[in-house]
Amino acid sequence: MALNLLMLGPPGAGKGTQAERFAQSRGIPKISTGDILRDAVQAGTEIGLRAKAIMDRGELVHDEVMIGIVRERLEKNDTANGFVLDGFPRTVAQAEALDGIMAGRDPLIVIDIMVPEEVLVRRLSSRMICQDCGHNAPVGHGPVCTLCGGKLVQRSDDNQAIVLDRLKVYHGQSEPLVKYYRERPTFRSIDGAQSPDQVATDLTAAITAACAHTGPLPGLGATTPSGVQP
Ligand code: AMP
Repeated sequence: MALNLLMLGPPGAGKGTQAERFAQSRGIPKISTGDILRDAVQAGTEIGLRAKAIMDRGELVHDEVMIGIVRERLEKNDTANGFVLDGFPRTVAQAEALDGIMAGRDPLIVIDIMVPEEVLVRRLSSRMICQDCGHNAPVGHGPVCTLCGGKLVQRSDDNQAIVLDRLKVYHGQSEPLVKYYRERPTFRSIDGAQSPDQVATDLTAAITAACAHTGPLPGLGATTPSGVQP
């Protein structure tokens, strides 16, 4: 059975960091639509050129473009044992398209990472990102990535004005996704205003509980009906 995980939450909730950790620990790919777009911008492709201005304004790239990118990515063989989706879906139209793409595959586990607004603004405005490996680090970590030695830079859409716009876009277009998924037995919310290690622990527990509704998954062990490890 494949572990098909989807991370919801506002910008700055820690989706990328947690998705990366979890994907690495399970040996499944992390698929971040933000990273795919930033790579396209860097490579100067047509999609990248069109997306850059939209991303710099903190707005959303068109649904059709994003759905096409994700459909193509999920067709690759490395998703056979599962994947972690980070940053997609961002609209209800994308979620509906994803349900179509997932038809006939193992169910989605949906985890919503909740963080208060003031924490998000503080985190985003002080976040640095490695231009080589994409690792996130708060300001004060020095100019060099602790993982790969690459240069840490501020994301062009992480300045305070754009951060507020991105949060507005989240509330208007992406928060309705919680309602879209909430009634599913494989939906769980976790508290993202804790240390990354504690969030990672809670994430694994939430996935284990959600998996009680899908059957045993690789690496998570057997679960009781209540989702508690025996
Ligand atoms: P992220 O790294 O997830 O914060 O994404 C950075 C930017 O990429 C967003 O602010 C959007 O402009 C764009 N983007 C990423 N994922 C999506 C998506 N699923 N739908 C529309 N735009 C997206």
